[in-house]
Amino acid sequence: MSINFKSFIKYVEERNPNEPEFLQAVAEVTEDLIPYINEKHPTWADLKILERLVEPERVISFRVAWLNDKNEVQVNRGYRVQMNSAIGPYKGGLRFSPTVNLSILKFLAFEQIFKNSLTGIPIGGGKGGADFDPKGKSNMEIMRFCQSFMTELYRHIGPDTDVPAGDIGVGGREIGYMYGQYKRIRNTFTGVLTGKGLNWGGSNIRPEATGYGLLYFVECIYDNLDEKIAGKTITISGAGNVAYFAAEKAIHMGARVITLSNSKGTLHDPDGLTLEKLVYVATLGRDLEKYTKKYKTATFHADKRPWQFKCDIALPCATQNELNEDDAKALVKNGCICVGEGANMPSTAEAIRVFHKAKIHFAPGKAANAGGVAVSGLEMSQNNLRQQWSSGKVDDRLKSIMLNIHKTCVKYGKEDDGYINYLKGSNIGGFIKVAVSMKAQGLV
Ligand code: NDP
Repeated sequence: MSINFKSFIKYVEERNPNEPEFLQAVAEVTEDLIPYINEKHPTWADLKILERLVEPERVISFRVAWLNDKNEVQVNRGYRVQMNSAIGPYKGGLRFSPTVNLSILKFLAFEQIFKNSLTGIPIGGGKGGADFDPKGKSNMEIMRFCQSFMTELYRHIGPDTDVPAGDIGVGGREIGYMYGQYKRIRNTFTGVLTGKGLNWGGSNIRPEATGYGLLYFVECIYDNLDEKIAGKTITISGAGNVAYFAAEKAIHMGARVITLSNSKGTLHDPDGLTLEKLVYVATLGRDLEKYTKKYKTATFHADKRPWQFKCDIALPCATQNELNEDDAKALVKNGCICVGEGANMPSTAEAIRVFHKAKIHFAPGKAANAGGVAVSGLEMSQNNLRQQWSSGKVDDRLKSIMLNIHKTCVKYGKEDDGYINYLKGSNIGGFIKVAVSMKAQGLV
């Protein structure tokens, strides 16, 4: 039996109506997987590996009721999508944002399967969160929300079952409140969440891991081209966890980082950010515009994204679909030769087509931002061993994981003309281990 891409997408669309982000992710992956399965592993088609892969093993949706500071009852919706556990316990972040819905969490959980597999660490794919907006909430409100959220979630997770982490809107503080509530209910001190504080089971380099890993991956691309990142101009979107540490590592590597952004607009500093300026950015909260009062050559562009500025390397590190076809064309026109996704699926399908046509070195999120989950996996290992490794040791492991992911992408993504299709390489490279494991474990 062979699979037809169009019929397969139609099948997924019919079963998952009104889930555009999930469909986008499935199409992006299966466009590469279907020809590969048809040519190399036709028995995987008979076993309906793909049909099973796009069906979450479990979707949990629950009510989260909590009290705001005015003692008013608030109701949100929480989720956990347990997508695939063929190679290990479910692993993936929790996102708190009013934009959260099932389509977005299913796309993220689906991507997570391949990303986690690529790290070489035995972890399956999952994702979760709530349509809760942490912006403008007091510390106490955040705590009450996190406690209420965990009061339901705790029964579905565990160190050998499902190990959530942070994502947009969920940082160290939220992980702390959720962990405290889990411990109170279960009466066990166990590695059930990653991204924990360093004093209570967290790993060195976890906050930095996604941004640092992204730059290590881009460095591999440049090594492959026999070039260096030093001296290159980089545009970055976002000003959160991933963007911040991507900027820090890029500056360490000698690059000139000229933008950061958030949902209010883009900060452009033509002189380039320095480590000192970055520390100042961290004090600004979401008010990036304030930077221009201190650094006079910098400008703030309300409601604009960073992709119109001339750069060698673009690193979208904010959110999904933040870089569209027009943005991609502008990047190509302005001489950008490399795009590394720090965020999950920040480039639209049309934008990716532009990159591939222009032979841009395009590193998709599932490969380029896998450093975060990789160090989360290392945090799980440290918890099991009751150890805490040094920053140097974790950073070395992170570098070698990113190097291996790059190798895998080259192995499965190199085309006849020598161009490396990193998307294809990461899709196939991440899939094989999962498919082999699903086959070995029978019809489940
Ligand atoms: P944070 O919440 O720390 O930061 C998100 C940043 O993106 C903020 O600056 C935010 O601005 C901006 N942003 C969010 N939505 C939009 C939007 N619609 N338009 C413009 N800017 C926006 O999240 P992270 O840095 O942790 O995550 C960023 C991305 O990286 C996400 O796609 C996430 O899934 C992905 N990722 C994160 C990992 C991690 O380890 N944290 C691991 C792998 C991937 P504002 O404050 O104004 O909303």
